[in-house]
Amino acid sequence: MAKTILITGGSRGIGSASALLCGAQGWNVAINYAHNTDAANATVAAVEAAGGKAFAAQGDIRDEASVIALFDRTVEVFGGIDGVVNNAGIVAPKSTLAEMDIERMRRVFDTNILGAYLVAREAARRMTGGSIVNVSSAAARLGSANEYVDYAGSKGAVDTMTTGLAAELAPKRIRVNAVRPGVIATDIHASGGQPDRAERIGSKLPLGRAGTAEEVAEAIIWLLSDKASYVTGAFVDVSGGR
Ligand code: NAP
Repeated sequence: MAKTILITGGSRGIGSASALLCGAQGWNVAINYAHNTDAANATVAAVEAAGGKAFAAQGDIRDEASVIALFDRTVEVFGGIDGVVNNAGIVAPKSTLAEMDIERMRRVFDTNILGAYLVAREAARRMTGGSIVNVSSAAARLGSANEYVDYAGSKGAVDTMTTGLAAELAPKRIRVNAVRPGVIATDIHASGGQPDRAERIGSKLPLGRAGTAEEVAEAIIWLLSDKASYVTGAFVDVSGGR
């Protein structure tokens, strides 16, 4: 039977690439996004062209009511939820901690920590089995000095939540894992004011290049699938060797 997967931040980048691979498996996909309706609709069309079913749902993961409504709609449309890709996240412009203002830190923590926790909480309430994949970052290990230690810390929180929630939900046979992408070529770098970041840093990585959203999506799809049936509380680094 077709699985139903809910993806936050599914309109662009890693979320969109994951949605496409879900579509190619013939799965149903709920595609959440924040602002970019055109990109979300394009992802829906691509999922359907690949062989799945999809709908787009605008909603800010920082807002509890929006997160609840997203899960309600997914259950209403597809009848249940087998997998959640807890992916939506942001970075802010390059800065030392000494120079960060509170508004910026609140935005990063509200999205990457509170938003991710709200999505995971709702998944824990609704799911009766299946798989949750949190999209963390290699930054959680590396710390992102002089760039964004707020972001790195927010992903550290996602890692800790992954460990705890995996243990909480194991008795319900819900697996909880995280992928930790390294430098991946998506729009996120431009949104943080560094459009050349993937190319610039990529060439200095052990594998000599930045990764692609599809390469991260492959790991996500594996963790969602029954092929990863004995994997929980694990971290899959998709980071080119760093
Ligand atoms: P991206 O290309 O910038 O896409 C971000 C996605 O998140 C978009 O779909 C965006 O929606 C959505 N989004 C942002 N804020 C949201 C909110 N408050 N509520 C709902 N949706 C929201 O980013 P990406 O590079 O694919 O990153 C995806 C995840 O991977 C993030 O958690 C990021 O931290 C993590 N990651 C990325 C890299 C990398 O190098 N790219 C490395 C490590 C980890 P709109 O289209 O509507 O704006």
